[in-house]
Amino acid sequence: MTLQLRTRCVFLGAPGAGKGTQAKRVAAEAGIAHISTGDMLREEVRSGSALGAEAKTYMDAGKLVPDQLIIDMVKARVERPDCKAADGSSAWILDGFPRTLPQAEALDQSLTGADALTHVISFAVPEDVLMGRLTGRRTCSKCGAIWHIEHNPTKQDGVCDKCGGELTQRSDDRPEAIGKRLEVYRSQTAPLLAYYGDRGVLREIDANRSPDVVFQELLNAMQ
Ligand SMILES: [Zn+2]
Repeated sequence: MTLQLRTRCVFLGAPGAGKGTQAKRVAAEAGIAHISTGDMLREEVRSGSALGAEAKTYMDAGKLVPDQLIIDMVKARVERPDCKAADGSSAWILDGFPRTLPQAEALDQSLTGADALTHVISFAVPEDVLMGRLTGRRTCSKCGAIWHIEHNPTKQDGVCDKCGGELTQRSDDRPEAIGKRLEVYRSQTAPLLAYYGDRGVLREIDANRSPDVVFQELLNAMQ
């Protein structure tokens, strides 16, 4: 039976915390939309929408897409039919945004009433565990499949089981880069936890457990 969660939820977690994978799974199980701002941005650019065309001018110039443009995209996105429950309210999981306090405040001003945020789930994982998850990650250069040298190894070292392609380590999965990514997360995203805690919408999940256990706890937390 498909659950029908009526929640409007932000998933927060450091790189390697597993939130993207869980967001996909929960969205499929609960029959609500998974809005990954990274995917959404690429899709808008590909479709040639007005917002996508505007975003592309920043990306082509090597600049960050302004917060307000992303918020406008999210706002348009939650109006689409796959985000709408029968009573006209929306239901979705937002993954990848907001990452900073100003973004969170601007998002709250934009999504109000039947679109207002109901839950924020924080994925707690110790930093040494994140480090291990990320440094062991290998990506297939041909099909994009993701492996892990310990937790999800291929039959033959360095060769993708699915397509025979060569496995590579993404430059941002190298230890120095990971240290920086975790530091950025700590400094920018930690204030979000206090902000959402004050608003009474924050729930923390111990995400240093098996994916199945985390998944069940997510479903409970989002009721
Ligand atoms: Zn492959």
